[in-house]
Amino acid sequence: MQKVLILGSTGSIGTQTLEVIDKLNNFEVFALACGKNIELLKKQIAKYNPSFVCVQEENDAKTIKNDFPKLNVLSGNNGLIELAKCENYDILVAATSGIVGVRAVLEAIKNKKKIALANKETLVMAGDIVTKEAQKHGVSILPIDSEHSAILQCLGTIDNKSAKRLWITASGGPFLNNTREEMKNFSAKEALNHPRWAMGKKITVDCATLVNKGLEVIEAHHLYDFNYENIKVVIHPQSIVHSFVEFVDGSFLAQMGVPSMHIPIQYALCYPNRFEGIKTDSFNIFNQNLQFLEPNYKKFPLLKLTIECGKQGGIMPAVLNAANEVAVYKFLNNEINFLDIEKLVFDCIEKTDNFKNPSLEEIFEIDNSIRKSLV
Ligand code: MG
Repeated sequence: MQKVLILGSTGSIGTQTLEVIDKLNNFEVFALACGKNIELLKKQIAKYNPSFVCVQEENDAKTIKNDFPKLNVLSGNNGLIELAKCENYDILVAATSGIVGVRAVLEAIKNKKKIALANKETLVMAGDIVTKEAQKHGVSILPIDSEHSAILQCLGTIDNKSAKRLWITASGGPFLNNTREEMKNFSAKEALNHPRWAMGKKITVDCATLVNKGLEVIEAHHLYDFNYENIKVVIHPQSIVHSFVEFVDGSFLAQMGVPSMHIPIQYALCYPNRFEGIKTDSFNIFNQNLQFLEPNYKKFPLLKLTIECGKQGGIMPAVLNAANEVAVYKFLNNEINFLDIEKLVFDCIEKTDNFKNPSLEEIFEIDNSIRKSLV
C-alpha cells in the first residue's frame, strides 16, 4: 500500500486524484488538505478516513474537529508544512493553486517523499531551488500535467542526451481564431469556455492568453534540464497529441489520447507502471484530423514574454507569475478587459530590475510586493 498526501483535495486535480485512487488497489489516503471547501472535505473525510487533514482557516479546523473528534486536524501554511514533514506517507500530490504549496513541496522533498506535481508555481517561481533539493535528496518529481506527462512517457528510460528537442503542444485556447480587436471585448465567460479541457478558472484564462503554455515551457526546462532554445511550442487544436520529443536520430515520439487528466494523474502515481485504472472515453483513432501550427507570438505576446522571463531567470518568472495572477483575477471580476491582462503584466515586467539566484525568502517577498503594488 502506498500512502498519499493530497494538498488541494477539493480542487479539480485533487478530486480527480481521488477518483483515480478509487480505481487502483494499491493506494490509500494518508492526509487531505484543502482551502475553504469544507463541505466537500467532510464528505472526503467520511469516505477515505485519513489520518490527518489540514484546512486554511482555524475556525474551519474547529468545525471539522467537532464533527470528527478523533481526527488530527491542522490549519494554515504551518499545517501544510507539518503534514509534509510526517514520516508515514509515500507520495505527496501537490495540487493547490498559487504559492501556498511551494514550501510544503520543499519540505516533502527534504523528507525524501515522491512528489506528484500539479502546482505550476513550484517550478515556475522556485525551479532552481526545488530541482537542486530534489537532486540532493534523490527525489523524483513526477508531473501531473498532460504535456509534461507526455514528455516523460516519450523520454521513457532513455538517457536525456539522445533527446534533442521537446515539443509542447497547446490547444491554442478559445480565441485561437479571433482577431485582437475581437479579443478586446471578450468577457470572462467567453474566456472560460475552453474548447478541449475542463479546468479551474485561473488556468483556463491562462490558456486563453497562452501564458499557461509559457509557464509549461519554464516547468519543462526545470523538469527535464533542457535549454530554452530546445523547447518548442506547437499549436495543436485537437488536443489529442499531448506533446512530443524529437531525438538526435530524427525520430519523433508522441503521446496521444483523449484529453483527460486522469491519465497523467495515474501515470504520476504509478510511474513507471501502467494499470487499467479509471475508464476514460475510448479514443477513436480513425478520422482524426490532427493539425500542428506555429504559434502566433504577435497575437499572443504573453506567450513570448513568459518564455523570455524564464530565460532571464532570477526573480523574473516569479514577477511574471504574480502580475499575471493579479491581472487574471481582475479580469475574472470584470475590472479589466481581456487585453488589459497583458498590458498590466508587461508594465510590471518593465518596471522590475532582475537579480540572479534569489533565495526562497526573496522570491516570496517579491511575489508579495508585486501583488500589493497591483491591487
Ligand atoms: Mg497542461
